[in-house]
Amino acid sequence: MTARDVSNDAATWQSATRVVRAGLPEKVAGTPYLPGPVFAAPYHTPGDPLLSPYTYGRFHNPSWTHYEAALAEMEGGPCLLFPSGMAATAAVLATLVPPGSTLVMPQECYYTTRVIASQPFPGAWFASQGIKVVMAPTAGDGLLRALEQEAAHGVAMLWLETPTNPGLDVCDIALLAAKAHEVGALVAVDNTTATPLLQQPLALGADVCVVSDTKAMTGHADLVLGHVAVRDAQHAEQLRLWRTRMGVIPGPMEAWLAHRSLGTLHVRLMQQCRSAMAIAEFLSGCAQVSGVRYPGLPNDPSHAIAAKQMKAFGGVVSFELPSAEAVAHFFAHSRLVYEATSFGGLHTSAERRARWGGDAVSDGFVRMSVGLEDVHDLIADLTTALARL
Ligand code: PLP
Repeated sequence: MTARDVSNDAATWQSATRVVRAGLPEKVAGTPYLPGPVFAAPYHTPGDPLLSPYTYGRFHNPSWTHYEAALAEMEGGPCLLFPSGMAATAAVLATLVPPGSTLVMPQECYYTTRVIASQPFPGAWFASQGIKVVMAPTAGDGLLRALEQEAAHGVAMLWLETPTNPGLDVCDIALLAAKAHEVGALVAVDNTTATPLLQQPLALGADVCVVSDTKAMTGHADLVLGHVAVRDAQHAEQLRLWRTRMGVIPGPMEAWLAHRSLGTLHVRLMQQCRSAMAIAEFLSGCAQVSGVRYPGLPNDPSHAIAAKQMKAFGGVVSFELPSAEAVAHFFAHSRLVYEATSFGGLHTSAERRARWGGDAVSDGFVRMSVGLEDVHDLIADLTTALARL
C-alpha cells in the first residue's frame, strides 16, 4: 500500500478508529489523552460571563464537552448529554412535540417511553398539553398507515425504536423518515439497542436520535446516562435550554467514565454481535426453546430491513421457554447468565420480561444480553441450564 492509498483524514476513519480517538483533545505535552472528570459548581468568572468558557456547573462542564464532541463525531450531528436515557427521551418529547399536536409511536417500544408519552403524571405540565398519541406496530406497515391517517391533524413527531426492546422488531428508518417529512413531522429514533456504531439514524433521514448510554455505549453495567443527537442546531439549542433550566444534568464522573468506555465500544460490540449470532443459532436448534428472535438470523422477520440499515445485529437475543417456572429453572441451573434487567454490558445477563408487566410478551419470554465471555463457555452453560428444564 502506498502513502497515496491511505487517507489520514478523521472524516474517513473507520469506526474502530473513531471510537478510540473521538472527542480527545489536541496533543499537549504533559497532559493526559483524556483529561479527568472536572468537579466544579462555580468556575472563576471575572467580569463579563460570556468571556469565561465555563461559569456554572448546571450550564456546562468540560467532561460533558469532551464526551459530547465524541458522540457528535459518531452520530453526525450535535449531541447533548443527559443523566439517563429517559431524561434524554423526556427532553425530546417535551421540547419538540408542541401542545395540541400528534405523536405517532410504536406500540412495543421501551415501556417507560410509552408510559411518559401516553400516561403523563397527573398535574405535571405535559398532562395539560393535549397531545394525541397514536400507537402502531413497528413491524409491517402500521406506522406508515398511522402517519397517513393522522396527516390531516398535524403530526409533530414520529417516534421509532429499532430494533425494539424487547421484541427485536425493526422498521425501515429511511422509508418512514421520508413519509414523515412529507406530512411535516420530525422523526426521532431510539437507537439504544443498536448504538451509532451499528446504525446511524441521522444519516438514514431521522432528525433526532436518542440513546440510553447506560447500555452498550458504556457497556460496563456501572452507570446511568443518555444522549440526544440532532441534525438541526436550533433543536440542539432547545434541548440545551431544557437541560439547563430544568437542571437535568449528568454528573462529570459519569461523562468521563462513558468517554473512557467508548474507546472499547467497537471491540466489545463486535464480539457481542458474533457471540449473539452463535447463541441465536444454538437456541434455534434447542427443543425446549421457541420463538428465537435475532435480527441477524436469515429467517428472522427483522432480517431483511436490519441487513439494509445496520452494520451488524447487536448483542440482544430473545426467546421463549414454555413457562415462568421453566425460566426460573433455567436461571437456577445457569452459572454464567446473571438474572438482571438492562442489556449491552460485558456480563451476559437475561430476564423474564413479563415479571415487570407492560410488554406484550408471553410468561416464558426471555430477553438475553450477550456479554464478552467466551462463546463456547456460554453455549456450554446454556446447554446445561436448558437440559434441566
Ligand atoms: N430506551 C430503551 C430502548 C431502553 O431499553 C431504555 C432502558 O432500558 C431506555 C430507553 C431508558 O434508558 P435509561 O434506563 O438509561 O433511562
